[in-house]
Amino acid sequence: MRITRFTTGEDPLYGVLTGDLDEFGQPDEDSVIVALAGDPLYVGVKLLEQEHKLEDVRLLAPVLPRSKVVGIGRNYAAHAAELGSDVPTEPLMFLKPNTSVVGPGDPIFYPPQTQNLHYEGELAVVIGRICRDVPPEQATDVIHGYTIANDVTARDLQKSDVQFTRAKGFDSFCPLGPWIETDLDPQTFTDGVSIQTHLNGDVVQDGNTRDLIFDIPTLVAYISSVMTLLPGDIILTGTPEGVGPMQVGDEVEVSIAGLGTLTNKVARR
Ligand code: MG
Repeated sequence: MRITRFTTGEDPLYGVLTGDLDEFGQPDEDSVIVALAGDPLYVGVKLLEQEHKLEDVRLLAPVLPRSKVVGIGRNYAAHAAELGSDVPTEPLMFLKPNTSVVGPGDPIFYPPQTQNLHYEGELAVVIGRICRDVPPEQATDVIHGYTIANDVTARDLQKSDVQFTRAKGFDSFCPLGPWIETDLDPQTFTDGVSIQTHLNGDVVQDGNTRDLIFDIPTLVAYISSVMTLLPGDIILTGTPEGVGPMQVGDEVEVSIAGLGTLTNKVARR
Protein backbone atom coordinates (compact mmCIF):
# COMPACT_ATOMS: atom_id res chain seq x y z
CA MET A 1 0.00 0.00 0.00
CA ARG A 2 1.20 3.53 -0.77
CA ILE A 3 0.36 6.03 1.98
CA THR A 4 0.32 9.69 0.97
CA ARG A 5 -0.30 12.92 2.78
CA PHE A 6 -1.81 15.62 0.60
CA THR A 7 -3.78 18.82 0.41
CA THR A 8 -6.39 20.10 -2.01
CA GLY A 9 -5.99 23.55 -0.50
CA GLU A 10 -7.82 22.54 2.65
CA ASP A 11 -6.40 20.88 5.77
CA PRO A 12 -3.96 18.05 4.94
CA LEU A 13 -5.33 14.51 4.72
CA TYR A 14 -3.74 11.09 4.48
CA GLY A 15 -4.65 8.84 1.57
CA VAL A 16 -3.92 5.61 -0.25
CA LEU A 17 -2.52 5.95 -3.77
CA THR A 18 -4.01 3.34 -6.12
CA GLY A 19 -2.60 1.98 -9.38
CA ASP A 20 0.90 0.98 -10.45
CA LEU A 21 4.17 2.81 -11.04
CA ASP A 22 5.78 2.92 -14.47
CA GLU A 23 9.46 2.09 -15.06
CA PHE A 24 10.39 5.65 -14.06
CA GLY A 25 8.52 5.38 -10.76
CA GLN A 26 5.67 7.61 -11.87
CA PRO A 27 2.07 6.59 -11.06
CA ASP A 28 -0.39 5.57 -13.79
CA GLU A 29 -2.39 8.44 -15.25
CA ASP A 30 -5.59 6.98 -13.85
CA SER A 31 -4.18 6.67 -10.32
CA VAL A 32 -6.35 8.19 -7.62
CA ILE A 33 -5.88 8.89 -3.95
CA VAL A 34 -8.52 7.46 -1.62
CA ALA A 35 -8.66 9.69 1.45
CA LEU A 36 -8.23 8.25 4.95
CA ALA A 37 -9.80 9.16 8.27
CA GLY A 38 -6.91 10.30 10.44
CA ASP A 39 -3.24 9.34 10.52
CA PRO A 40 -2.83 5.64 9.65
CA LEU A 41 0.16 5.43 11.99
CA TYR A 42 -2.22 5.94 14.91
CA VAL A 43 -5.69 4.82 13.80
CA GLY A 44 -4.90 2.27 11.08
CA VAL A 45 -6.11 2.51 7.50
CA LYS A 46 -9.73 3.73 7.51
CA LEU A 47 -10.85 4.55 3.97
CA LEU A 48 -13.25 7.43 3.43
CA GLU A 49 -15.67 7.60 0.50
CA GLN A 50 -13.60 10.39 -0.99
CA GLU A 51 -11.32 10.12 -4.03
CA HIS A 52 -9.02 12.67 -5.61
CA LYS A 53 -7.17 12.59 -8.91
CA LEU A 54 -3.45 12.80 -8.36
CA GLU A 55 -3.28 15.92 -10.56
CA ASP A 56 -5.79 17.70 -8.30
CA VAL A 57 -3.75 17.45 -5.12
CA ARG A 58 -0.40 18.62 -3.81
CA LEU A 59 1.58 15.87 -2.11
CA LEU A 60 3.13 16.69 1.26
CA ALA A 61 5.80 14.91 3.29
CA PRO A 62 4.09 11.55 3.88
CA VAL A 63 5.03 11.54 7.55
CA LEU A 64 5.76 14.18 10.15
CA PRO A 65 8.38 12.74 12.50
CA ARG A 66 7.12 13.41 16.04
CA SER A 67 10.57 13.28 17.53
CA LYS A 68 13.52 12.63 15.24
CA VAL A 69 15.22 11.75 11.99
CA VAL A 70 18.15 9.43 12.70
CA GLY A 71 20.83 9.60 10.04
CA ILE A 72 23.46 6.96 9.36
CA GLY A 73 26.76 8.15 7.90
CA ARG A 74 29.14 6.28 5.61
CA ASN A 75 26.94 3.21 5.16
CA TYR A 76 28.17 2.54 1.61
CA ALA A 77 31.90 1.77 1.32
CA ALA A 78 32.33 3.65 -1.98
CA HIS A 79 30.80 6.81 -0.46
CA ALA A 80 33.04 6.60 2.63
CA ALA A 81 36.01 6.33 0.26
CA GLU A 82 34.99 9.35 -1.82
CA LEU A 83 34.91 11.47 1.37
CA GLY A 84 38.33 10.11 2.35
CA SER A 85 36.82 8.29 5.34
CA ASP A 86 37.32 4.77 6.63
CA VAL A 87 34.41 2.35 6.62
CA PRO A 88 32.96 2.48 10.15
CA THR A 89 33.12 -0.64 12.32
CA GLU A 90 29.68 0.15 13.78
CA PRO A 91 26.89 2.42 12.48
CA LEU A 92 27.73 6.14 12.64
CA MET A 93 24.61 7.89 13.98
CA PHE A 94 23.56 11.52 13.85
CA LEU A 95 20.26 13.39 14.25
CA LYS A 96 18.42 15.79 11.98
CA PRO A 97 15.68 17.87 13.59
CA ASN A 98 12.10 17.09 12.55
CA THR A 99 11.89 20.72 11.40
CA SER A 100 14.27 19.85 8.53
CA VAL A 101 11.54 17.73 6.88
CA VAL A 102 9.81 19.04 3.75
CA GLY A 103 7.74 17.29 1.09
CA PRO A 104 8.01 16.43 -2.59
CA GLY A 105 8.18 19.55 -4.74
CA ASP A 106 9.08 21.79 -1.81
CA PRO A 107 12.15 24.00 -2.18
CA ILE A 108 15.48 23.12 -0.60
CA PHE A 109 16.70 26.47 0.69
CA TYR A 110 20.38 27.28 0.12
CA PRO A 111 21.53 28.88 3.38
CA PRO A 112 23.95 31.82 3.28
CA GLN A 113 26.23 30.08 5.80
CA THR A 114 27.46 27.48 3.27
CA GLN A 115 29.25 27.53 -0.07
CA ASN A 116 29.03 23.77 -0.66
CA LEU A 117 25.50 22.37 -0.47
CA HIS A 118 25.29 18.65 -1.36
CA TYR A 119 22.51 16.22 -2.23
CA GLU A 120 22.54 12.71 -0.70
CA GLY A 121 19.89 10.37 -2.12
CA GLU A 122 18.84 7.80 0.49
CA LEU A 123 16.39 5.05 1.37
CA ALA A 124 14.35 6.08 4.44
CA VAL A 125 12.74 3.72 6.95
CA VAL A 126 9.56 4.89 8.72
CA ILE A 127 9.07 3.48 12.22
CA GLY A 128 5.55 2.29 13.00
CA ARG A 129 5.42 1.90 16.75
CA ILE A 130 7.17 2.78 19.96
CA CYS A 131 10.09 0.44 20.52
CA ARG A 132 13.47 -0.03 22.13
CA ASP A 133 16.05 -2.82 22.20
CA VAL A 134 14.54 -4.39 19.07
CA PRO A 135 16.34 -7.62 18.08
CA PRO A 136 17.31 -7.58 14.38
CA GLU A 137 15.00 -10.50 13.64
CA GLN A 138 12.02 -8.46 14.93
CA ALA A 139 12.82 -5.24 13.06
CA THR A 140 10.06 -5.89 10.52
CA ASP A 141 7.48 -5.69 13.33
CA VAL A 142 8.34 -2.06 14.13
CA ILE A 143 8.67 -0.77 10.54
CA HIS A 144 5.68 1.06 9.06
CA GLY A 145 7.18 1.36 5.58
CA TYR A 146 9.78 2.92 3.31
CA THR A 147 10.15 6.20 1.49
CA ILE A 148 12.82 8.28 -0.23
CA ALA A 149 14.92 11.01 1.36
CA ASN A 150 17.49 13.58 0.40
CA ASP A 151 19.92 14.01 3.30
CA VAL A 152 20.89 17.54 2.27
CA THR A 153 24.26 18.46 3.74
CA ALA A 154 26.36 21.62 3.91
CA ARG A 155 29.64 19.78 3.27
CA ASP A 156 31.89 22.66 4.30
CA LEU A 157 30.10 23.07 7.64
CA GLN A 158 30.19 19.31 8.22
CA LYS A 159 33.99 19.49 7.97
CA SER A 160 34.48 22.70 9.95
CA ASP A 161 32.02 21.91 12.76
CA VAL A 162 33.00 18.24 13.30
CA GLN A 163 29.48 17.81 14.77
CA PHE A 164 26.87 17.32 12.02
CA THR A 165 24.05 19.29 13.68
CA ARG A 166 24.35 22.53 11.71
CA ALA A 167 25.54 20.94 8.45
CA LYS A 168 22.50 18.65 8.27
CA GLY A 169 19.96 20.51 10.38
CA PHE A 170 18.79 23.55 8.41
CA ASP A 171 15.09 23.87 7.60
CA SER A 172 14.33 22.03 4.31
CA PHE A 173 17.41 19.75 4.59
CA CYS A 174 15.31 16.57 4.74
CA PRO A 175 12.95 16.23 1.76
CA LEU A 176 10.83 13.06 2.20
CA GLY A 177 8.40 11.33 -0.11
CA PRO A 178 6.58 11.09 -2.38
CA TRP A 179 4.71 8.42 -0.34
CA ILE A 180 5.33 5.52 2.06
CA GLU A 181 5.35 1.99 0.66
CA THR A 182 4.16 -0.36 3.41
CA ASP A 183 4.30 -3.71 1.61
CA LEU A 184 8.06 -4.23 1.29
CA ASP A 185 10.30 -6.32 3.50
CA PRO A 186 13.81 -5.34 4.68
CA GLN A 187 15.13 -8.38 2.84
CA THR A 188 14.07 -6.72 -0.44
CA PHE A 189 16.71 -4.05 0.17
CA THR A 190 19.34 -6.53 1.36
CA ASP A 191 18.77 -8.45 -1.88
CA GLY A 192 19.23 -5.21 -3.80
CA VAL A 193 17.18 -2.26 -5.01
CA SER A 194 18.43 0.43 -7.40
CA ILE A 195 18.85 3.95 -5.96
CA GLN A 196 19.64 6.82 -8.34
CA THR A 197 19.97 10.57 -8.06
CA HIS A 198 19.58 12.90 -11.04
CA LEU A 199 20.77 16.50 -10.99
CA ASN A 200 19.13 18.57 -13.73
CA GLY A 201 18.43 15.31 -15.56
CA ASP A 202 21.96 13.86 -15.35
CA VAL A 203 22.63 10.70 -13.32
CA VAL A 204 24.97 11.65 -10.46
CA GLN A 205 24.40 8.74 -8.05
CA ASP A 206 23.77 5.19 -9.26
CA GLY A 207 23.83 2.80 -6.30
CA ASN A 208 22.16 -0.28 -4.96
CA THR A 209 20.88 -1.05 -1.46
CA ARG A 210 22.63 -4.43 -1.54
CA ASP A 211 25.81 -2.43 -0.84
CA LEU A 212 24.56 -1.16 2.53
CA ILE A 213 27.30 -1.97 5.05
CA PHE A 214 24.77 -2.27 7.90
CA ASP A 215 21.39 -3.58 6.73
CA ILE A 216 18.03 -2.30 7.93
CA PRO A 217 17.45 -4.84 10.75
CA THR A 218 20.96 -4.12 12.05
CA LEU A 219 20.29 -0.37 12.02
CA VAL A 220 16.92 -0.71 13.82
CA ALA A 221 18.55 -2.89 16.48
CA TYR A 222 21.55 -0.61 16.87
CA ILE A 223 19.62 2.66 17.08
CA SER A 224 16.90 1.26 19.36
CA SER A 225 19.58 0.03 21.76
CA VAL A 226 20.50 3.69 22.24
CA MET A 227 17.21 5.58 22.02
CA THR A 228 13.51 4.74 22.05
CA LEU A 229 11.99 5.02 18.59
CA LEU A 230 8.51 6.50 18.21
CA PRO A 231 5.87 6.09 15.50
CA GLY A 232 6.81 8.33 12.59
CA ASP A 233 10.51 8.48 13.42
CA ILE A 234 12.72 8.17 10.35
CA ILE A 235 15.97 6.32 9.75
CA LEU A 236 18.08 7.55 6.83
CA THR A 237 20.12 4.54 5.76
CA GLY A 238 23.04 6.37 4.15
CA THR A 239 23.94 7.54 0.67
CA PRO A 240 25.80 5.75 -2.13
CA GLU A 241 28.79 7.31 -3.85
CA GLY A 242 28.45 10.30 -6.15
CA VAL A 243 27.53 13.08 -3.72
CA GLY A 244 28.12 16.54 -5.09
CA PRO A 245 27.12 20.20 -5.03
CA MET A 246 23.78 21.78 -5.90
CA GLN A 247 23.25 25.38 -6.98
CA VAL A 248 20.24 27.66 -6.68
CA GLY A 249 17.81 26.70 -9.46
CA ASP A 250 18.98 23.08 -9.70
CA GLU A 251 16.44 20.26 -9.74
CA VAL A 252 17.37 17.11 -7.82
CA GLU A 253 15.50 13.83 -8.19
CA VAL A 254 16.07 10.76 -6.03
CA SER A 255 14.57 7.53 -7.39
CA ILE A 256 14.34 4.13 -5.73
CA ALA A 257 12.95 1.20 -7.71
CA GLY A 258 9.46 0.39 -6.46
CA LEU A 259 9.25 3.49 -4.27
CA GLY A 260 9.02 6.26 -6.89
CA THR A 261 10.86 9.55 -7.35
CA LEU A 262 11.34 12.45 -4.94
CA THR A 263 11.89 15.77 -6.75
CA ASN A 264 12.92 19.11 -5.23
CA LYS A 265 14.45 22.33 -6.50
CA VAL A 266 17.05 24.46 -4.79
CA ALA A 267 15.98 28.03 -3.96
CA ARG A 268 17.66 31.02 -2.42
CA ARG A 269 16.79 31.41 1.24
MG1 MG B 1 23.49 10.88 4.45
